[in-house]
Amino acid sequence: MKKVDILIVGAGPGGMSAAQYGARAGYSTLVLDPMGPGGQLLYIDAIENYPGLGETSGYLLSEAMEKQCASFGVEMDYGAVSSISKEGNLFVSQTDIGEVESKAVILATGASHRHLGVKGEEEYRGKGVSYCATCDGPFFRGKKVVVAGGGDTALTDALYLSKLCSTVTIVHRREEFRAQKALQDKIAKVGNISTVMGRNIVEIKGDGSSVKEVVLDGGETIEADGVFVFIGTVPNSSLVERIAKTENGFVVTDDSMETTLPGLFASGDVRNTTFRQVVTAASDGAKAAHGADEYIRKNNL
Ligand code: NAP
Repeated sequence: MKKVDILIVGAGPGGMSAAQYGARAGYSTLVLDPMGPGGQLLYIDAIENYPGLGETSGYLLSEAMEKQCASFGVEMDYGAVSSISKEGNLFVSQTDIGEVESKAVILATGASHRHLGVKGEEEYRGKGVSYCATCDGPFFRGKKVVVAGGGDTALTDALYLSKLCSTVTIVHRREEFRAQKALQDKIAKVGNISTVMGRNIVEIKGDGSSVKEVVLDGGETIEADGVFVFIGTVPNSSLVERIAKTENGFVVTDDSMETTLPGLFASGDVRNTTFRQVVTAASDGAKAAHGADEYIRKNNL
């Protein structure tokens, strides 16, 4: 059985920040993620609000975080964690690289894309329906796309798509956007972005091999070669069941990021929090590692 001080599940910014703080404090720190380092950072084309960096890309920021982790001696590996249990004072986790014993665990499993749940969405997934602008945007160069959603992701990614696509139509279910004012101001100035407010997409239609149009409640249709769905996220929190979570499944923590199971901490988008940013995930990670440090010392582990 592999033994480490701190096991971190997930290598997004919440996990990598926790890892570098943990390792820098002198703990053996293992990060496991089936997809490798980056998490949702890898889907962000441009980041302009991470303090001190000006404009950068999610990929470059992820790479910088990974290098910083390595410089402090973090061990990072590809692999999923299938269960975490507490046996006495120690945690035992079943993972793709075998059983791992640790003094503390930090859950940084992030969140996944929410789906619209409308007719045609699953059928045309990968044939015009996408949840990632930076991954799939280039396939829609010069084409018409619809963006579903009204939050920061929908508007940020609509801006990205507007540089590639002929037209971008944002369909939002309410009359007001949820997104930050700065983003609303930006999209208002882009000639090929239009908005349809207070409407829901009820169906995505195509010819069997690619998307052709979306149908709105009320029956109108919008011609589209692609549909990008950015309607928020659902937390990846099912790994640990017997801890407090919100009704939507986000993990409840105290100020030190500790969950209701002592020694188990949570960091980043999986956590119940009001504002989800790269910088807040990084902040969570720092606090979770600090919390783990205090927990390990207090319990003489
Ligand atoms: P979000 O803030 O939860 O917004 C989701 C949007 O989708 C909302 O406008 C919501 O409508 C809509 N929606 C939810 N369920 C829907 C459904 N079933 N059908 C139709 N529309 C639906 O999610 P997000 O935009 O992905 O952002 C997630 C977090 O990341 C936020 O904290 C955000 O601030 C952060 N983020 C920040 C940046 C940045 O700072 N540049 C960029 C991206 C993301 P309602 O408004 O009616 O609820």
